[in-house]
Amino acid sequence: MSTERAARTIGILAHVDAGKTTLSERILYLTGAVRALGRVDRGDTVLDSDAIERARGITVFSDQADFVHNGRRYTLIDTPGHVDFAQETERALMALDAAVLMVDASDGVRPHAALLYSLARARGVPVMLFLNKCDLESADPERTLHQARERLNAEPILLPVDPERVAELDEAFLESYLSGEWNEDDLDRALSRAFASGACIPALCGSALRGGGVGELLNALDKLIPERNIDPNAPLQGVVYKIRRDSKGQRMAFIKLEAGTLKPRDVFAGGEQTEKIGEIRRAFGNRYESIGEARAGDAVAVTGLSAVSPGDRIEMSGGTRTWRHAQEGTIRAALSAKVEALDGTSPNLLNEKLRLLEDEDPLLNVRFDAATKETLVRVMGPIQLEVLEQMLLERFGIRAHFLPPEVVYMETIASPVLGCGHYEPLRHYAEVILRLEPGRRGSGITFESRCHVDTLAIQYQKLIRSHVFERAHRGKEIGAELADVHVVLLNGRAHEKHTEGGDFREATYRAIRQGIMNAKSVLLEPFYRMEIIVPGEYAGRVAAEIQTLGGELEPPERLESDVRIRARGPVARFADYGVKLRASTRGTGGATLSFDGYDVCRDAESVIRAHPYDPNADLEQPAGSVFCSHGAGVFVPWNEAEARMHCLKK
Ligand code: GDP
Repeated sequence: MSTERAARTIGILAHVDAGKTTLSERILYLTGAVRALGRVDRGDTVLDSDAIERARGITVFSDQADFVHNGRRYTLIDTPGHVDFAQETERALMALDAAVLMVDASDGVRPHAALLYSLARARGVPVMLFLNKCDLESADPERTLHQARERLNAEPILLPVDPERVAELDEAFLESYLSGEWNEDDLDRALSRAFASGACIPALCGSALRGGGVGELLNALDKLIPERNIDPNAPLQGVVYKIRRDSKGQRMAFIKLEAGTLKPRDVFAGGEQTEKIGEIRRAFGNRYESIGEARAGDAVAVTGLSAVSPGDRIEMSGGTRTWRHAQEGTIRAALSAKVEALDGTSPNLLNEKLRLLEDEDPLLNVRFDAATKETLVRVMGPIQLEVLEQMLLERFGIRAHFLPPEVVYMETIASPVLGCGHYEPLRHYAEVILRLEPGRRGSGITFESRCHVDTLAIQYQKLIRSHVFERAHRGKEIGAELADVHVVLLNGRAHEKHTEGGDFREATYRAIRQGIMNAKSVLLEPFYRMEIIVPGEYAGRVAAEIQTLGGELEPPERLESDVRIRARGPVARFADYGVKLRASTRGTGGATLSFDGYDVCRDAESVIRAHPYDPNADLEQPAGSVFCSHGAGVFVPWNEAEARMHCLKK
């Protein structure tokens, strides 16, 4: 057994300009990982090494670098601070053992800090608070702590800690504290428990620029993060938190190893694929060093795994290493933007390059409309579009431009319907009978079979299931993606000689589409959940504004001098609400908007008018069936198809 202490991964979360990059740099300098101190203002920092980030002065990608403190290796992940990149931050959180939430003590706790805090807590990541810029005269640590308590809804405890405060939070320690029989280790252990559970957030005052408080921060992390078991024989466990390409274009999967070990040439099997790890690398900004092994606790870049995506978990299953797609994050991009090349690049090439970016950021959800030759991507907001334009230019030499983003609508059905599809051109055969039911809000597309395997063999049922999920199906109202529909397989038929690969795909697509044509369609639109903090005197005006825009308000909550307003409203009306709010509160109010799922559209009529769509002209979504008549395939329109289905004949 090695006596080595497990490596840890920490992340710094902050609003833009709180001093995140400056703190990262200071930590690397203080621990000897770099010899000279990089400066944001000079553009020579280790993290934020990307040209786009340097030019903009904001963090877009989560970079990482290792340092050693107290004989233990740490990987520091720098995360994006801008709301448009909250998805990248959410993915980075998967790798963290702890997060340092930084706030500018001269500016206060912004709503975005509250969003970052809640994302970290939702993933169970313990959070420490660093009150930065305490060297400035305008800094007010006491007020900032007070704001943190109110706005984060958390219990900040200033370090060095007062034992009495810890006794209030930890019952085990309370007993020894009252009896007077305790030592510093007991105190640290109790604080560590409260930190890990989120019962408190240990807080420190400091200055990233001058170095104050940074050593104390490292010592606190060293003491308070719970220890990880590093038995090398434990079964493999880990999470893929990022995909990137190196300067030679080689794909790297960044893996946080939670248990077990990984070595070059380790084999992974998933589905029909087997893959072998090429190299294991430690990252230091944009430099990489190949290493012989990664152990529990390490956060490393691995080459050779082409099929894993951000968010996937890797593990041992039945004696083989494998990966599985895990739950997605809570953040969704509810806007979509069209891209156009300005330099004559063909739509196909542009689409291909965007797919490479999508590999790193699956939520981009690149969609190519073959009919119009238009490419669309999903985005969070305008800054992300600017960054995408720059990435296309710098990585692929393509000059492109995005049109103003639009809200992404979805469609569902109002009540259960039958959906029938038959596909039988000469020497082909497949028939599928489905029932489409309205699903729970947010459930997407779900599938179930109520067809006996004696009626339709299991391999065909599996095929139908995969065709249901392999692409987006479209609604009939505006051609928006279908969602919240439970697809039930009732019946199906194959031909012992003529059913070929692809026939069930045709029949399944037609069955879904025929059902949609039969159904009453319901338009869905995305909603934001909003948390708004404004000084008391503006509360009334802001609440009225939200209602005028069609938002629903919860009862406002009075803080010391501010008021917290929680509301929910359609993205279409609130997408630029942050800007409006600043205008109507003279810059004193702040809003955090987070995606809150889809719901019935408020202005369905005007949206439908603005998105003309003829379902019968959509050749990609055929609703009719193909039957065989006198040795030839004949097309039967959707509204006549049901009567001819073979499975439904008595
Ligand atoms: P980020 O956007 O959160 O990465 O913030 P940066 O690290 O880029 O810092 C934003 C600005 O704040 C830069 O001009 C820094 O020099 C400055 N800054 C960062 N930390 C401190 C600090 O502790 N004190 C003072 N006075 N300025 C700081």
